Amino acid sequence: MKNYRIAAVPGDGIGPEVIAAGVEVLEAIASDNPDFELSFKHFPWGGDYYRKHGVMMPEDGVDTLRDYDAILFGSAGDPDIPDHITLWGLRLKICQTLDQYANVRPARLLPGIKGPLAGVTAEDLDWVIVRENSEGEYAGAGGRVHVGLPEEVGLDVSIFTRTGVERIQRFAFELARSRPRKKLTLVTKSNAQRHGMVFWDSVFDRIRSDYPDVETDKMLVDAMTTRMVLDPRSLDTVVATNLHADVLSDLAAALTGSLGIAPTGNLRPERDMPSMFEPIHGSAFDITGKGVANPIGTFWSSAMLLEHLGQTDAASRLMSAIERVTADGSVLPRDLGGSASTRQVTDAVLDALSKGNV
Ligand code: NAD
Ligand code: MN
Repeated sequence: MKNYRIAAVPGDGIGPEVIAAGVEVLEAIASDNPDFELSFKHFPWGGDYYRKHGVMMPEDGVDTLRDYDAILFGSAGDPDIPDHITLWGLRLKICQTLDQYANVRPARLLPGIKGPLAGVTAEDLDWVIVRENSEGEYAGAGGRVHVGLPEEVGLDVSIFTRTGVERIQRFAFELARSRPRKKLTLVTKSNAQRHGMVFWDSVFDRIRSDYPDVETDKMLVDAMTTRMVLDPRSLDTVVATNLHADVLSDLAAALTGSLGIAPTGNLRPERDMPSMFEPIHGSAFDITGKGVANPIGTFWSSAMLLEHLGQTDAASRLMSAIERVTADGSVLPRDLGGSASTRQVTDAVLDALSKGNV
C-alpha cells in the first residue's frame, strides 16, 4: 500500500477552518481505500508565527516541504500584517522556491449551482484557466528608491523568459489536448505592452504548430472579461500570465457561483518537487471564526491533489460526493445561497462519500 505524506499549511483567517475540513474528508477517503494511506503533518506558519519570530515561516521551511508528496494550503493573509509580507513570506515563497510554475484553475458550474449568468448551464461553462505561476508581473523584480522623498519611485518589472513562457504554454497545450474540445485561448495585452506581451504572443505562434489538433485563438485581456460573461461557451482551456490569470480566475469563480468553491493546483509538472493545492479564496476576515466558510473550494482542491498523486478513483469519488451535495441543494453554505455551516457542509460531503461506497 502506498503511503503519501501530505504537508498541511492552513495559514490564517478561514484557512485553518477549511483545511481542517479538507483533511477530515481526505482522511475519510483514504481510510476506506485499500490502495493508499495519507499521513498529514501540520505546519503552523502564518501571522502568529510572524508575531513570534518576525518571519512567516522558518528559513528552512520550504526545504522541509520538499520531503512531502503534496502540500495542502489554506490562505496567507492576516488583518494586522501587510499583505505583501504575508503573501511573499509564505505562499509565494513556497510556489517560487519549489518552482510550481503551472497554476491550474478549473471553473465549472457544479450541478445544482445557479451562477449569476442568466440561462447559462453546466454545459456552457466548463473552463480550465492555466496561470503562469513563476514569473511575469509577480516575478518580484523591482524596488523602491528615494523612499519618502518627493522623487520617490516604485517599480515592479514584469519578467518574461523564453523558458518560463514556453513551458507554461506547452503545459496549456497538453492540457487543452487532453480535454474533449481541444481548444486553447491565449490571453494577452500585446497592443499596449509591446515588449513582454509581444514576446508572449510570438512564443505561442511558434509552438502552436506542434499541436495541430488543438484549436487556438487569442484575446486581449480586457475583451476576455466580456467574452467570459457574454459567451462562456466559446471558451475551454485558457492560458494567461500571472497577473491576468489571477484576475480572470476570480471572475471565473464568481461566474460559477462563488469564490468559495474555486480550486487551484500549483503544479510542479516534473514532479521532482511537491505540488501545492489550495482554494482560490483568501483569509476572508469578515467571516473568520464564525464557522460559516465554504469548504468546497478546499474539497475540490483536495480532489485535484488526489488526482495529482495518481489516485484518480479517489479523486472522482470525492468530486462526485461534492456534486451530489450541490445537486441536492439542501445543505449549501451561505455564499451559495444556503445557510449551512462549514461543519454541516463537511458532514454532508462525508455522508455522500459513505453512501457512494454502497
Ligand atoms: P477573500 O477571498 O479573503 O474574500 C473575498 C470575499 O469572499 C469576502 O467577502 C469573503 O467573506 C468571501 N469568501 C472568500 N472565501 C470564502 C469562503 N470559503 N466561504 C465563504 N465566503 C468566502 O479576499 P480578500 O478579502 O481580497 O483578501 C483577504 C486576505 O486574504 C488578504 O490578506 C489577502 O492578501 C489574502 N488572500 C490570500 C490568498 C492566498 O493565500 N491564496 C488569496 C487571496 C487573498
Ligand atoms: Mn488571486
